[in-house]
Amino acid sequence: MELTGNGVSPGIAVGQALVMERERVPVFRLLLAPDAVEREVQRLLRAVAASRKQLEAIKARLSREVGALHAYIFDAQLLMLEDPLLRDRAAGIVRQDHVNAEWALRQVSEQLHALFDGFTDEYLKERSSDLDDVLGRVLLNLAGAADGPSLARLPGPVVLVAQDLTPSEAAELDWAKVMGIALDGGSRTYHTAILARSRGIPAVAGLRDATQRVPPGALVVLDGTQGRLVVEPSEPVVAGFRALRERQQRREISLQSTRGEPAASRDGVRVALLANAEFAEEAATAMQYGAEGIGLFRSEYLLGRGSLDEERQYELYRRLLDQMHPHPVTVRVWDLGPEDIAPGGPSSPNPALGPRALRMLSRAPGAFRPQLRALLRAAVHGPLRILFPFLRGASDLAEVRAFLAETAQELESEGRVYAAELPVGVMIEIPSAALTLGQLAPAADFFSIGTNDLIQYLLAVDRADPRVASLYEPLHPAVLALLVTAFDQARAAGRPVGVCGEMAGDPLQSLVLAGLGARELSMSPTAIPRVKQVLRAADLAHVREATLRALRLSSAAAVESHLRTELHEALAAADAGES
Ligand code: PEP
Ligand code: MG
Repeated sequence: MELTGNGVSPGIAVGQALVMERERVPVFRLLLAPDAVEREVQRLLRAVAASRKQLEAIKARLSREVGALHAYIFDAQLLMLEDPLLRDRAAGIVRQDHVNAEWALRQVSEQLHALFDGFTDEYLKERSSDLDDVLGRVLLNLAGAADGPSLARLPGPVVLVAQDLTPSEAAELDWAKVMGIALDGGSRTYHTAILARSRGIPAVAGLRDATQRVPPGALVVLDGTQGRLVVEPSEPVVAGFRALRERQQRREISLQSTRGEPAASRDGVRVALLANAEFAEEAATAMQYGAEGIGLFRSEYLLGRGSLDEERQYELYRRLLDQMHPHPVTVRVWDLGPEDIAPGGPSSPNPALGPRALRMLSRAPGAFRPQLRALLRAAVHGPLRILFPFLRGASDLAEVRAFLAETAQELESEGRVYAAELPVGVMIEIPSAALTLGQLAPAADFFSIGTNDLIQYLLAVDRADPRVASLYEPLHPAVLALLVTAFDQARAAGRPVGVCGEMAGDPLQSLVLAGLGARELSMSPTAIPRVKQVLRAADLAHVREATLRALRLSSAAAVESHLRTELHEALAAADAGES
């Protein structure tokens, strides 16, 4: 591979590359109580002092090792730290606006960048990278201080307003203190939204510039049902929302009454309802909502909490099986990007289509082997199922099955105890796999349709981009046609097929899926009671027939209105008492 750029310093170097990655420090905007302001200024000054000490140590080491001449490059940063434009101005913002030090630094950074941009002198212009460097250091020192706010230390119950949340940030988050989440970006199938649903926390995504517009500490009402975020509402508006919330909570409690009952349609078709989970502690929520197992454990979230060796994974999967006993637990093998699996590689120009998940198998087998070993060993203790994501078709499956067999052989030769027969499933989330499902069947024990990605790839609509969210249509006739093809092939091959994408948790769409042949639906635990209600009220033979007739329609809107009319009785069961 050859990458091209501009040479800016002549000469040739030959040696081993060391790749550096910079941590992203999330910046919060908090409103402080008046009596906390001086403490915050002191926190800022301590972080500045710690940064100065570190820079002086670096400078001293550099002088020793390469001579004083080169150590001057840190003088600019040391001067910046001392400069009233930075330190005093930041302290002034904390005092004046009653905001946290991180936010004050961000303001100062913006002001100083504007100043640097105005310089015509190239040398001065370039100092703006020194500014970023020095501010990044102060921020890291603030984050390292035990008394500062962080995702793991939120200041009391809050509605989190964020641009987005990465999986590792979500892993760190103190969820007990999060009452709601408002996101600038994202959409329904965006992972943070999925996580919020799993935890029953209201969330609104795609708010574009909420982080810019919501003043810190402002009272907000977040309506995750209608997708609204009301900022500084009047008292009557707040009262109205509180009353609505009480009605919704009463409704939730009444839905819970079917907890111990099976989901069987009026015409006697049994559909198992399982839970999707990202973290082990969600098993308790899954059981509470009557889940009949975990249909999708997104194991990659474990890595947000630090890397996991084989032993720790083994213990964790085993514990999950205990918690869900006697139900099955389906663990999806790492579905990660290359930067997570093998740091330092070139970034993908289009990550959704790049070398993610099992496409990294040949490049980074060391990331997958401990997981597969842990799964094979844990499966001795209960109904564990393994699920391979992101495969295009039979040739990809052959490759991962060979790797699995090799891993099992390794355990065998070490004399370890493992389950040779654990069920192996394939996620159907790439259209090519859906179209050729029959070819996958001989090497797959079950299928799980991942509608989140399947729709994104079929309709060429980025599931995380709010600008195209209206084009992301689960009921698009092409999606239905592809689902029909996949279900029909699974039926012909005699393989069970479930759905673990977000469609499974939507009352209308869950009916469609069950009508087409899904006998297992896996969803956010909180969605289970409502889906159960509609299924129990539906005649699946009729649903199937209505869905097949919808294939002739030419838009998602037409499909939806046709289905709502045809299935209104069953849907009314879930809507009763809703408002
Ligand atoms: C899917 O793609 O439908 C799925 C369930 O997986 P994820 O949302 O984690 O991509
Ligand atoms: Mg997926």
